[in-house]
Amino acid sequence: MAKKSILITGGAGFLGSHLCDRFLSEGYRVIAMDNLITGNLANIEHLFKDKDFEFHHHDVSKFVFVPGKLDYILHFASPASPIDYLKMPIQTLKVGSLGTHNLLGLAKVKNSRILVASTSEVYGDPLVHPQKEDYWGNVNPVGPRGVYDEAKRFQEAITMAYHTFHGLETRIIRIFNTFGPRMRLDDGRVLPAFISQALKGEDLTAFGDGSQTRSFCYVDDLVEGIYRLLLSDHHEPVNIGNPDEITINEFAEEIIRLTGSKSKIIYTPLPKDDPKQRKPDITKAREILDWQPKFTRAQGLKPTLEYFQKALTR
Ligand code: UDP
Repeated sequence: MAKKSILITGGAGFLGSHLCDRFLSEGYRVIAMDNLITGNLANIEHLFKDKDFEFHHHDVSKFVFVPGKLDYILHFASPASPIDYLKMPIQTLKVGSLGTHNLLGLAKVKNSRILVASTSEVYGDPLVHPQKEDYWGNVNPVGPRGVYDEAKRFQEAITMAYHTFHGLETRIIRIFNTFGPRMRLDDGRVLPAFISQALKGEDLTAFGDGSQTRSFCYVDDLVEGIYRLLLSDHHEPVNIGNPDEITINEFAEEIIRLTGSKSKIIYTPLPKDDPKQRKPDITKAREILDWQPKFTRAQGLKPTLEYFQKALTR
């Protein structure tokens, strides 16, 4: 029997590259597509020798062509860290809107099932805590984060429209903060920032007073959630994340302790519209996908620290 084929956009990125690994190990033929503006070929170079793996250097905001049959599409292309989407606001808006439109069109002609990567950012600076899928969010459309948040909200809307109007098989995942090996050292997110500061003996920069919260999920758990959602029959959005919530101050202390660093915490201004609290309600994922995170933050931080230690000496 022919192998199932899957297109993974953003395939050279942090999450995309882990998804390539997972689907190859499940026996799929994997086509990774990336324009490499935030992705990195080093994340997938170990896959180039695999005959079931192909890489296409392409920007999905432009017309997407893939020859042959295509069973599944995972749309994971987008700048995804606040400093990246501040640097590339137009590309961020385009990949979430035009890029999603192109991939939905591709899914329609190929009769593929498509899963799009949405985000906890659709909840904005949430007024409901923890966040459940039926909360509509508190987003500033014209603030600095609006380029990402609104692109992802549009992405959800157009994906749902293709489902209802064209009968397309669609899946929408709302991803909460995720960490693990292959995050970019300089992507500006709190975990790479704190770990590299701690390992270099620099002070850890907590923004604001550090009382804001996040809930961090290890990448292997996230990938398992994506895998289960793709193969499920649920087309409504599903939160995937780890509900173990922590303040940024506590997180900084944890990183200092785990790295044995002598660094201190310093406080710098809070970026505009930075969400004050974030924690997924994962009741739906538990019920529909029988999914919940298996890795504690400490368990996930071990391989992540090893990765960053190596990356810093490269
Ligand atoms: N943050 C911080 N110091 C940093 C980077 C980020 O205190 O060097 C804070 C940021 O203000 C936010 C949280 O850490 O409250 C998570 O930020 P991140 O950029 O990782 O992603 P977000 O969850 O905001 O999308």
